[in-house]
Amino acid sequence: MQHRRGRGLAPINLDRATAEGRTCSFGGCTRAVSSRGFCTGHYQQQSKGQPLTPLRKKRGQGAVQDMVRRGIIECRRCGEHKPVSEYSKLNASGVARPYCKPCNAEHVRLNNYKVTKEFIDLLLRFQRGNCAVCGDAHTGGRAMAVDHDHACCPGQGSCGNCVRGLVCDTCNRFGLGWYEGLRPELRTFDLLNKYLADPPVKRLRAELALLDE
Ligand SMILES: [Zn+2]
Ligand SMILES: [Zn+2]
Ligand SMILES: [Zn+2]
Ligand SMILES: [Zn+2]
Ligand SMILES: [Zn+2]
Repeated sequence: MQHRRGRGLAPINLDRATAEGRTCSFGGCTRAVSSRGFCTGHYQQQSKGQPLTPLRKKRGQGAVQDMVRRGIIECRRCGEHKPVSEYSKLNASGVARPYCKPCNAEHVRLNNYKVTKEFIDLLLRFQRGNCAVCGDAHTGGRAMAVDHDHACCPGQGSCGNCVRGLVCDTCNRFGLGWYEGLRPELRTFDLLNKYLADPPVKRLRAELALLDE
């Protein structure tokens, strides 16, 4: 079965989302599930809208040495084999980071918001793949912005508690920032008020707390 961009998002199922020890649903793949039933590599293929293909097998010692000689590193996040130039330097001695540049950017981004990849994936499912403000469908390309309460944490990062939801680029840059800067008596947009009063992260965390009891 080939999964392509535009495939319907899986229905929300918190139990399934937290299930452990399952293997990737791509036929023949034996890697552990990371997101939406796929291993990290197949999830990446799927979210980029690429046709799913078998991932390269784990290599033996000889093959690893061969990669090192050719200047190829296996990214510890997406599992892809990429040239050293695709990795930033970790320190002055020139050792490469364990994650390739796009993976590292995502890693840093999530760290800034003190949320895990698993939580963001769960949140996206909870929002049915749509922007939490305008309801636009999340398109395969660009990741949605993690919105947080700037009254709690001014600037780019968040303490983690004030993360509110995933919103599209338009709502993030031209909607919320502008709206929250208005005087209270001017903030009369129902959609935005509804989002701000009861953001999806608050609801998701309440549901997760119920599951924990
Ligand atoms: Zn897989
Ligand atoms: Zn990577
Ligand atoms: Zn939006
Ligand atoms: Zn923000
Ligand atoms: Zn905060």
